[in-house]
Amino acid sequence: MNYISTRGRAPSLSFEEAMLTGLARDGGLYLPESIPVMEADDIRALEGVSYEEAAFRVMRPFIGDAFTDEEFRGIIARAYEGFGHAARAPLKQLDSGHFLLELFHGPTLAFKDFAMQLIGQMFEFSLKRSGDRVSIVGATSGDTGSAAIEAFRGLDAVDVFILYPHGRVSEVQRRQMTTPTESNVHALAIDGHFDDAQARVKDMFNHFEFRDGVRLAGVNSINWARVLAQVVYYFTSAVSLGAPDRKVSFTVPTGNFGDIFAGYIARRMGLPIVRLVVATNQNDILHRCLSTGEYRPDGVVPSISPSMDIQVSSNFERALYYAYGQDGGAVAQVMDELKAGGFAVSQGALQALREAFESGRCDEDATRATIRDTWERSGELLCPHSAVGVHVAEAHRSPGVPMITLATAHPAKFPAAVEEASGLHPPLPERMADLYEREERVTRIANDLGSIETLIKERITH
Ligand SMILES: *Cc1c(COP(=O)(O)O)cnc(C)c1O
Repeated sequence: MNYISTRGRAPSLSFEEAMLTGLARDGGLYLPESIPVMEADDIRALEGVSYEEAAFRVMRPFIGDAFTDEEFRGIIARAYEGFGHAARAPLKQLDSGHFLLELFHGPTLAFKDFAMQLIGQMFEFSLKRSGDRVSIVGATSGDTGSAAIEAFRGLDAVDVFILYPHGRVSEVQRRQMTTPTESNVHALAIDGHFDDAQARVKDMFNHFEFRDGVRLAGVNSINWARVLAQVVYYFTSAVSLGAPDRKVSFTVPTGNFGDIFAGYIARRMGLPIVRLVVATNQNDILHRCLSTGEYRPDGVVPSISPSMDIQVSSNFERALYYAYGQDGGAVAQVMDELKAGGFAVSQGALQALREAFESGRCDEDATRATIRDTWERSGELLCPHSAVGVHVAEAHRSPGVPMITLATAHPAKFPAAVEEASGLHPPLPERMADLYEREERVTRIANDLGSIETLIKERITH
């Protein structure tokens, strides 16, 4: 299985190479040359197997000869053993026909652990085999960074540098990044928004001398291996509601478009998904783009669902690639236009996007009201991101088709917003109850490429 760039001008790579490199050298994102299809019988056979076994069967066709079956099973087992729930991704019922997929039982209480824990184990395995070392650099609006640090802390072959927007992540998110004591963990607080942090990371990847010098590796949501890991829970949840013999819909709280794009892949693999609904907060560029065809970032307005406070949605490029009929040149062109302020999606591509995705927006008041109402009606305390999902999902139900909303974080990761909305203080799970007492370690840094690169070169432990 080979991987090609969405912009069509980078060499095609194996799964392992695409995983280790992250962003393609032409600025594009890697995608599999073709998408393997799972037969209905194979999907049906996922009923009742463990999450790990389902993960193995769903992902196996994508990894080529990167790992033997036995190695890959070991990697998956180690990735999910630290989760606080035996089902890994349990499905709860909220209302008749509306289900909540709880993706927050991993070590940092957000869905990003599903991908990051797996990628940590895959990196460890690959780098041990080759004897190489890498510097992982990532930008985060809070959850990616904590998940990455948790996945890579203490690993021998890796330094992990995480840029987060200073003052714009929750205290739990910040503490999860700044309290690990391992010397290969480096938390950097950048003066700016998430989009600034993400732009500097992209700059580093496009600065080949630096990139090669420090052996840069990316684990942001643009990394294909992360998208792949997220495909699994679409299958497990849909199968538990009767797929492939019964169709389902999903609503996904969205920022960088990685999680919902995994649903798109699941559908292309043969999972019968009726609706894939993009749920945005007030930073609604994706909803606006799907509604009007215009993709024009206009500044982030901080919200109570900060992990979705995004105007430049990296993985949307992957959706555009398919919408433009797999024409890398067309994607490269709209991405150039984006640098100059924005672009209009062509008529044909917009139609394709609208066939694949629906969308909705949830403002701050509706987010708070949804947290309160869901607690009162169903006894489920939602995090603000999940609440955005539940609110938008309600407007996109179709009769007879169950709706699954992805619950992307534990409410205790965003306690202030949850308490304001519901009057309830969500406690941290027992296993991380001392987080507020641990000592923090962080470097504040300007939004300046040169300073960031210098710091990284100085800090590398190898
Ligand atoms: C990252 C994140 C999102 C958005 O996911 P994308 O894959 O970037 O769309 C939503 N909710 C939470 C809690 C997150 O951490």
